[in-house]
Amino acid sequence: MKRPVDDQTLQAILRRYWGFDSFRPVQEEIIRAVLAGRDTLALLPTGGGKSLTYQVPTLARDGLCIVVTPLIALMKDQVDRLHKLGIRAAAIHAGLSSRQIDVILDNCVYGDLKFLYVAPERLASEIFRARVGRMKVSLLAVDEAHCISQWGYDFRPAYLEIGTLRERLPDVPVLALTASATQRVTEDIMERLRFAEPHLLRGSFARPNLSFSVRRTEDKNGQLLRLVHNVAGSGIVYVRTREATEQIARLLRDEGETAAAYHGGMAHAERSLRQEEWIAGKTRIMVATNAFGMGIDKSDVRFVVHYAMCDSLESYYQEAGRAGRDGKRAYALLLVAPDDADRIVRRFEQEFPPLERVKEIYDKLCSYLQVAVGDGAESSYLFNIYDFCHREHLYEGSVLCAIKLLQLNGYLTLTDAREHPARILFTVGRDELYRLRLRRDELDPFIRVLLRLYNGVFTEFRPIDEQQIADWSGYTVERVRELLRRLWQLRVIRYIPANASPILYLNEERLPRADLYIAPDTYLRRKELTRERFEQMLRYASNETECRSEVIERYFGATESHPCGICDLCLARRRAAKQSDGDPALREAILDALTREPTDPHTLVARLGGPPEKAAEALQRMQATGELLLGEDGRLKIRRP
Ligand code: ADP
Ligand code: MG
Repeated sequence: MKRPVDDQTLQAILRRYWGFDSFRPVQEEIIRAVLAGRDTLALLPTGGGKSLTYQVPTLARDGLCIVVTPLIALMKDQVDRLHKLGIRAAAIHAGLSSRQIDVILDNCVYGDLKFLYVAPERLASEIFRARVGRMKVSLLAVDEAHCISQWGYDFRPAYLEIGTLRERLPDVPVLALTASATQRVTEDIMERLRFAEPHLLRGSFARPNLSFSVRRTEDKNGQLLRLVHNVAGSGIVYVRTREATEQIARLLRDEGETAAAYHGGMAHAERSLRQEEWIAGKTRIMVATNAFGMGIDKSDVRFVVHYAMCDSLESYYQEAGRAGRDGKRAYALLLVAPDDADRIVRRFEQEFPPLERVKEIYDKLCSYLQVAVGDGAESSYLFNIYDFCHREHLYEGSVLCAIKLLQLNGYLTLTDAREHPARILFTVGRDELYRLRLRRDELDPFIRVLLRLYNGVFTEFRPIDEQQIADWSGYTVERVRELLRRLWQLRVIRYIPANASPILYLNEERLPRADLYIAPDTYLRRKELTRERFEQMLRYASNETECRSEVIERYFGATESHPCGICDLCLARRRAAKQSDGDPALREAILDALTREPTDPHTLVARLGGPPEKAAEALQRMQATGELLLGEDGRLKIRRP
């Protein structure tokens, strides 16, 4: 029997494990629904705190929570975090051997594991199906739930297995989580996950401290520099290409700013280093492609400039939203040149590959992975898309698009990056090492630490943990890496720095090209969705009348929204209204009355005296400019930016 859980228990869990004082408003509502056994879809922005909504109720009760999530890196991140809090958790994904998976599943049946993270591709496996019925499952959480809908841009056929999984867990409620869903997608999620009845809880996508603006200009550099000189603090500039990251970073450095470039084609160690320096504030501005930013926790980013448009308003919101996490005023600026729209539509046409081309890319991909026709079923490969494109002279955009289509048709899955630890191997023997008499400097004690921590480094490459070496030697991680590089240069060791590479997982054996079938509807729908999403972005960029924040909120399905009062359009409207303000005294009187107490419009008009039409008109104008806000309680109040 489930015992009821009271609010105090939930608060105590929140405080004990996470040290937070209170839940965010929607979090509490979601947790209550979960505890009441209701199937629920929670739609909250990224960073809105979705993880806690399945973690807290699970800790409040007996039993295991199964979490389906597509991203291996985030899966590991979550498991690590839970471990640090002293909570037992594990993950199964394509990177593990079947022996490892076996042990973990045993732990779920007989052990006291609280959270099991599962990649969707693993749900269909025999070994998982056989065991799951014997686990004591209290909740099924589905992260990135929009992946289950073919109307969603990130549709993954493997997510459909969750429906079948529910049959095996008949009394277990489901909590679906997403940050991105149109109405069509939310309905689809609830249907495909076989909700007992529809139940959607939505958080707010408004960012009251973030000032959005769009600048149409022939001189993007000039506008960029203006913002960079006027706004203090850290920032990100998003550009489209790798070359542009270097160019713009150079431009900023020439202007006396500290700026670094960042893109996915860079070596992993280099990327980490630049990222660390930016987070630490040693570099003020990061000029990056969209490879930068996921999972980065920096709260005091003061501006995000987009030098070019994103593929969708959703990506734009996500990237721009990295500014101002600390709640202080921050700026999101989109730069648009007059011919941008035409150019991008043309590029979109070029990049979307014809069907024949998709098949050709499939062939090249298999050959690149050295998989022969008839081989490769259910196997995984490290896959470096930059290297592949470079070698085959292909556009990255087309390749990604082709991979997505192959994925939609069930042939393969491209997962996100999987971390590989740094490795070392001593290339000189122990005796020789002592004879080298490196004692003169700090290398000698450093080598001792290495030998103490890792025996066996003389015979084969061993994974090492740079953080652990730092802890033992007293150096910073950066210094540890430097010393390792020095030993490498001295030819004392061979050193492979840590790297991250996505995994390509082949579901089926390689087929001869003629047998490869891409369903026409997946192809057309993909093209259609890509275009629709991009058009939303264009609409956002060309809008000259509506509050930018409201446009975004509506895009995410809000039925009620208010002008933000701080975007470029709200500010322009406010200035215009002030200039044409017929009666400054009336405005003052209104502000004065509302400073004392929020009041409903009727009472306020009566209180102001004078002609009621005039007062009503002034109130409307002040709401339109975002100066006043009509609360849900029906009372007007002053908006404080
Ligand atoms: P999402 O999955 O929605 O993107 P996360 O679950 O990763 O968001 O949470 C984002 C951040 O918000 C985390 O750092 C988390 O610790 C923090 N957070 C979540 N809930 C609360 C809360 N009630 N109080 C304070 N911080 C919170
Ligand atoms: Mg999350």
